[in-house]
Amino acid sequence: MKKNPQTELLHAPRQAPQYIETVQPPLFRASTIIFNTTSDLFNRHWTDRYDYSYGTHGTPTTFTLADNIAQIEQGEYCLLTPSGLSAINLVNSTFLAHGDEVWVPDNIYGPNMEHLYNLQKRYGIQVRVYDALNAHSVEFSAKVKLLWLEAAGSVTLEFPDLVGLVKKAQQANVLSVLDNTWGAGLAFNAFDFSEEHLAVDMTVHALTKYPSGGGDILMGSIVTRDEKLHHQLFRMHAIQGIAVSGDDVAQIQRSLAHMSLRYKQQAQTALTLVNWLKQQPAFAQVLHPADPASPGHAHWLEVCQTGQSAGLVSVIFKAEYDLAAIRKFCDSLSLFKLGFSWGGPISLVMLYNLKDMRSLATPHLQEGLLVRFCIGLEHPQDLIQDIQQALQQLK
Ligand SMILES: *Cc1c(COP(=O)(O)O)cnc(C)c1O
Repeated sequence: MKKNPQTELLHAPRQAPQYIETVQPPLFRASTIIFNTTSDLFNRHWTDRYDYSYGTHGTPTTFTLADNIAQIEQGEYCLLTPSGLSAINLVNSTFLAHGDEVWVPDNIYGPNMEHLYNLQKRYGIQVRVYDALNAHSVEFSAKVKLLWLEAAGSVTLEFPDLVGLVKKAQQANVLSVLDNTWGAGLAFNAFDFSEEHLAVDMTVHALTKYPSGGGDILMGSIVTRDEKLHHQLFRMHAIQGIAVSGDDVAQIQRSLAHMSLRYKQQAQTALTLVNWLKQQPAFAQVLHPADPASPGHAHWLEVCQTGQSAGLVSVIFKAEYDLAAIRKFCDSLSLFKLGFSWGGPISLVMLYNLKDMRSLATPHLQEGLLVRFCIGLEHPQDLIQDIQQALQQLK
């Protein structure tokens, strides 16, 4: 029966006349996914690895990126979330309940700590803080459900005693989850590290950083090798309505191809800067895990057999430099832009006062204000020059 043009247009074939192979996978955007038959509808099941039933559950576009992230991190299953912090949130809300205890390193990514203290206040979850450099500072009672790890730690970049901590968690049957944003699955394998072949249970990764590489897209992931953990997370992911945009996924997919090259380059530039920064009299301490003087360097050596250490460098200014001086330094930089995050093409700088950030003593850190550099893709010599001219403003 002949239909009206308006209807004809709506129901024109969606399939292209001929399949072609392209460098990047095709992009699917979906809220509705159309079932061919009621059998297809009734036979769908949420535990299927690739459950095509509704946009929030995933499309070929999201499953492709998820599989790629799982592969890079050498896990098996991966869920995508709209940001790194939402991945953290999903782990906490899936595995923590009233009366449970969770252990977090003192140097963890700040918003995770804030989120956990909020859970503590509202839902009676006990937050305990440990020293990432000392596995003995963790005590596992029967109430402990989750151990958070971060390698290296946010801002101060101490490399934790991963071997000691994960061993301890395994012995106590406590779930371990590593914030893998710094290593990005490239610096070390979180699912098989050290000579003892240890593994964390889960990783979260802010894909916003190295996988995106553009400083423009937000996304997070949770990877595990354990099907049961994945299903628990998947169920919570579904009931909380967590979903990512196909367009954002395609952008990150496109950047993944050169992530390892960018990572390597930024890590190498960081090392060049570290060697120069260490010679500058303004700094009391230079923090970067690959540097032998940096806290946790021995733990880094034990785990990061690739020799890679990301593009983050922090410096602690000598105590005589007050906040006004540090602000002047940051404002005087021209290539380093003042902003949060890392992993993008442009170098970033951020200033911190450690006194507001820690609850444990930090004898391994010098007194003074801290500045973190996130290395972009500029030439190292230009970055050094930029810091040099900003230091001169302080004289
Ligand atoms: C940026 C970051 C996150 C959060 O990622 P967003 O996508 O910005 O929410 C989590 N952990 C670490 C270590 C990060 O650097």
